[in-house]
Order: sequence, then C-alpha cells, then structure tokens
Amino acid sequence: QAKLRQKGTALYFSESMGQDVRERMRLLISLREAFNTQLLFLVYQPKISLQTGLASGMEALLRWRMPDGSFVPPDRFIPLAEQSGLMIALGTFVLRTACQQLYRLMDAGFTDLIMAINISQAQLREQDFIPILQSAIEDAGVPAEQVELEITESMAAEDLMRIRTLLDAIRSMGVKVAIDDFGTGFSSLSVLRHLHTQRLKIDRSFVHEILEDDSIARMVIGLGHSLGMSITAEGVETEAQRQALFSLGCDEGQGWLFARPMEEPALLEWLQGTEKGKPSL
Ligand code: C2E
Ligand code: MG
Ligand code: MG
Ligand code: MG
Repeated sequence: QAKLRQKGTALYFSESMGQDVRERMRLLISLREAFNTQLLFLVYQPKISLQTGLASGMEALLRWRMPDGSFVPPDRFIPLAEQSGLMIALGTFVLRTACQQLYRLMDAGFTDLIMAINISQAQLREQDFIPILQSAIEDAGVPAEQVELEITESMAAEDLMRIRTLLDAIRSMGVKVAIDDFGTGFSSLSVLRHLHTQRLKIDRSFVHEILEDDSIARMVIGLGHSLGMSITAEGVETEAQRQALFSLGCDEGQGWLFARPMEEPALLEWLQGTEKGKPSL
C-alpha cells in the first residue's frame, strides 16, 4: 500500500483500485499539481429558455488543461478526485469560483441569470457542506436564489433521509436544486416527490433519440411538470431536437445547438450578443 501525504490529507492506494493503480496515482499527483497551479478552471455553458430563446442561466463545468495543452475530461478525473479525498477541496473551489463569476456577470448587467453548479457525492457527504455553500454565496455577494446545485439521481436515491434533510436546509437558504442526468438512474417516483427539487434535467441520451422515440422525454417532462418542476434538456444538438422538445413543453435547452461551454470572456461576448434581442438559434 502506498501512501501519499499532502496538505494534511492521507491517501491510500491499494490493489482494489484496479490494475492501473500506478497510472491513476500519477494522474492524481498531477491533478493535485494542476489544482495548485491553476490548470484547473471553469467553463460556462448557457441554458436557453425554449419559450423566449434567451439565456436563463449557465452551468459551470470543470476543465483540466495539461501542460501540453491537451485536456483530461471531467468524467475521468472527477471519480479519481472523489476516491482520493481531493474532491472536497476541488468542489469548494468550484462553488466559490462559480459564485464569483455570477457576481461579475451581475456586475456587467446580466442581473437575473442562474448559475448551476455540479455537486459530487463526496461533497454532499461532507459534514460542513452547508457552511461551505453559505460562505461561497456570501463571500461572492450573490443572491442565493440565483444559485442552483445539480445532483444526480443516484446521489439523491442513496441515503434518502439524510439527503432530504440536507436538501431542506439548502432550500431554506433559497438555493435551488436540480436532478441531473434524469432517467439514467433508478430512483423511484416517490423519491423524486419527497425531494422537492425545482428542476429535472433530461439526460442527453434521451434527447439524442427523441426524433425516433420521444416516449422518455415526454414522460420526464410530464412527470416533472406534474410535480411542479421545471425541465431542462441536455445535449440539444439540432434544430429538429429543439422543435421536438418545445412541442413536448420542455422549458429549457442546453447543448451545442445553442452554445458550447465557454471561458469568461467568450461567455460575456455571447451574452452581449443575445441580449441585443437576437437569440442564438
Ligand atoms: P453533466 O453535468 O451532465 O454536464 C453535461 C455534459 O454534457 C458536459 O460534459 C457538457 O460539456 C456536455 N455537453 C453539453 N452540450 C452538449 C451537446 O450538445 N452534446 C454533447 N455530446 N455533449 C454536450 P463535460 O463538461 O465533459 O462534463 C461531464 C460531467 O462531468 C458532467 O456531466 C458532470 O457530471 C461532471 N462535472 C463537470 N464539471 C463538474 C464539477 O465542477 N463538479 C462535479 N462534481 N462534476 C462535474
Ligand atoms: Mg450537470
Ligand atoms: Mg447532466
Ligand atoms: Mg450528463
């Protein structure tokens, strides 16, 4: 068993982590380095109201740029950070940075956008999650009502009682909660009803198949609306998909059709372009 000590965190690697232990260890060491040298940063992907064609907010997405300019995808390094204990610090960085970005957008005149932030399992398990969230919002000076947390269906289904209490505390701060990648997990309908979240995000696999088979998208939209939730479709890539979602009554879309995830300067430019009344469609 190898042990790595840095910033007071002890990390254990064992054979149970898989045959590629060494490679993952190397990746984890460079992830820590990246974290300390600002090679980790956020990009923001706009979310568009299908009614008006205007931006209603954006989702913060983490990026890791390697020294050679290539990117490691979050689907690869986030599970690693989760297993190693680094995710709490990384998640706190994401929360604080996204809230500061929201402040700058408000300062630039985009006063009613909602910043959606992905939260990992490790963060929700952390005892201090509520105070960390609270100070990210207060220190940035943004309204809690304009912050939305995205949690996945499986995170919600696990340990329902504790998550429910946590979500109640989050809601009482005014912060919104969305269920991400909805339809890919196994949560029961009663779980969904008990969580009182404000939004469901239809997983992009269902958007992808919508022209051949819209049954799941139709079901999720109907279900969400009947529980008083707003619906966002992920991974909207074509005009035909947008049309289909609109006809089904979907509230918001997010995807390459509208905009790619962007760094701050490009995001501002994009928002200024749409604000002048021409939707990016
Ligand atoms: P997600 O939260 O479901 O994010 C949506 C993913 O779909 C993003 O991938 C986004 O870039 C991608 N996407 C957006 N529009 C389109 C489209 O039109 N077509 C296709 N094919 N893809 C599209 P990304 O950025 O690689 O992130 C992957 C996942 O990593 C996220 O899925 C989320 O679960 C996780 N993640 C990213 N950033 C963070 C973070 O800061 N914290 C945590 N805990 N997880 C994060
Ligand atoms: Mg998300
Ligand atoms: Mg998603
Ligand atoms: Mg997804």
